[in-house]
Amino acid sequence: MRTINLIVVHCSATQGNRMLSPEALDLMHRRRGFNGTGYHYYIRKDGTVHLTRPVERIGAHVKGFNANSIGICYEGGLDCRGRPADTRTPEQRAALRLLVHQLLEKFPDCRVCGHRDLSPDKNGNGEIEPEEWMKACPCFDAEEEFKELVAEGTVETQSKLNYLKNEKGGK
Ligand SMILES: [Zn+2]
Repeated sequence: MRTINLIVVHCSATQGNRMLSPEALDLMHRRRGFNGTGYHYYIRKDGTVHLTRPVERIGAHVKGFNANSIGICYEGGLDCRGRPADTRTPEQRAALRLLVHQLLEKFPDCRVCGHRDLSPDKNGNGEIEPEEWMKACPCFDAEEEFKELVAEGTVETQSKLNYLKNEKGGK
């Protein structure tokens, strides 16, 4: 298994009132030259979570950060006029939260953030994103939303380590 220290949240950049099936997403990414869907997980509007790429395989979802990250995408991200908006349904929010929680258990001490938090524009290197929406993806503040999940995970890992230390020390 590769080292994973980052979970990146994306949106599919489709309008909240439209549908994008996992098959259509896969085709879209193949047309862009990817070997199938670039994200590892895809969350439909009804909260169904699709594994779209095995986690062991490096994704194709965020330039410069693919090697050590997991990509999660939710269906939506644009309002009916095509402007960036947090279109997540309650089912998507719940499914995303649970998935992030489960991944943090498996891969503790990961940073969780949105695609836009890693955008080249933020780094100020002058690169222009090919897709305008990428600057907004995933259209909500993922780092803020999951920060206490990340903190919990760190505390758990820390207490597990302390426990192991004490176990060894006590014998
Ligand atoms: Zn994205």
